[in-house]
Amino acid sequence: MKVIKFGGSSLANSQQIKKVFQIVQADSDRRIVVVSAPGKRHSDDEKVTDLLIQLATSQIEGKYNEAVLEVILERYQEIYDELQLNSDVMNNIRQHFATLKESNLEPAYLMDAYKASGEDNNAKLIADYFTKEGLPAKYISPKEANLFVSDTPGNAQVLEEAYKELEYLQLEKDIIVFPGFFGVTKDGKVVTFSRGGSDITGSILANAVSAEEYENFTDVDAIFVASPKLVHKPIGIDVLSYTEMRELSYAGFSVFHTEALLPAIKKGIPVHVCNTNNPSAKGTYIMKGKVNSPSIISGIASSSGFVSVYIQKYLMNHEIGFLRKTLQLFEDEGVSVEHIPTGIDDATIIIRGEDATDEILDRIVHRLKVELNADEAHYERGLCLIMLVGEGMVSMVGTTARVASTLAREQINIELYNQGVSEVSMMFGIREEYEKRAIQALYDEFFGEEVEYEVVDK
Ligand code: ASP
Repeated sequence: MKVIKFGGSSLANSQQIKKVFQIVQADSDRRIVVVSAPGKRHSDDEKVTDLLIQLATSQIEGKYNEAVLEVILERYQEIYDELQLNSDVMNNIRQHFATLKESNLEPAYLMDAYKASGEDNNAKLIADYFTKEGLPAKYISPKEANLFVSDTPGNAQVLEEAYKELEYLQLEKDIIVFPGFFGVTKDGKVVTFSRGGSDITGSILANAVSAEEYENFTDVDAIFVASPKLVHKPIGIDVLSYTEMRELSYAGFSVFHTEALLPAIKKGIPVHVCNTNNPSAKGTYIMKGKVNSPSIISGIASSSGFVSVYIQKYLMNHEIGFLRKTLQLFEDEGVSVEHIPTGIDDATIIIRGEDATDEILDRIVHRLKVELNADEAHYERGLCLIMLVGEGMVSMVGTTARVASTLAREQINIELYNQGVSEVSMMFGIREEYEKRAIQALYDEFFGEEVEYEVVDK
């Protein structure tokens, strides 16, 4: 059996839900359908989850916003009408909001109860629609199925015992429509995962029922080898290892929270990323272990906004504990450190720009000079990190040289370079104003031929 998850854009309105129905119906192995809340219908639309957060906030602040409630109800009503449903689900939804309005839950739990209702209501509508269309479907809630999670509102973690509880879902005769994004605590409170968390629900269910595949339907044909925002029409990735995915998402690939896939991946269940709007596209498989990809590089990702804190001290390499003391300063200021490329007498500490204000950085630099007697210390914002990722790199000579000469041709200086021992990825730091040019050039270098081939083939 397959667990199939649809994101918000796949369920934004009745036309999208009709596509979803066709997809589920097309394969009898698709037994468990995990759904998000309705997403944006067009680029300046609002996601139902965002509206729910507004509504919850208004209630928590004591000025309940009826207008927002109306917009939310209209979204569901429109779906209900256009799917020509004839059930009491709309009454049920209205009743649910009336109950929430009177609720005296603590703010954090009230917020989560509202957020969760986005997927919960959608699941009810979708189950009714499937059944009406002749595909018997049953809405099952995380509460009924015991999807137990930690008592951490907005950031739930699945509890180990939930997997055993959920196992029975594989025995259901009807198609199961299961709302994503939330679970229940052991004492029955609704708590959501982090934003985008319906992926997590799908992954947990795939693990619990030992699915043969976890299909994750979104609105792109594949995970692309480079961001379509930076490269014109990049090619898609056929297969990606979990490690590669993890490395890529670190540097800005935003298709998934990679942690979301962990429950499925841990059990060796392949994750298949597909497009609701083009279900016959090949999509991308994400698998456990090493994958044999035809190219050395599986993907190129980049992320801007890093800060480099440069420290220089003569004979640094002889001074026992220097790095530890340096890191202590960052810890004192509550700043998380991302990378530490070192030289003989110097070290660069890379952090994310949003993690430290100029005031904090000035303090750190000052302490480096005064307390640690650094000969030189300064910081610079505006660093872009580029990751080239590929399991194939380990068996190839000369990849670094190709990257370096590509960037040299573009007159782009490499500010720093780092390669992990695993050789699954290499990281380059450049000034962020060159990001687009660098990524395009690297894409042409490593994937240029494939692009040409594709064009000829057409
Ligand atoms: N609806 C939730 C969000 O917007 C969860 C999800 O769609 O995965 O974050």
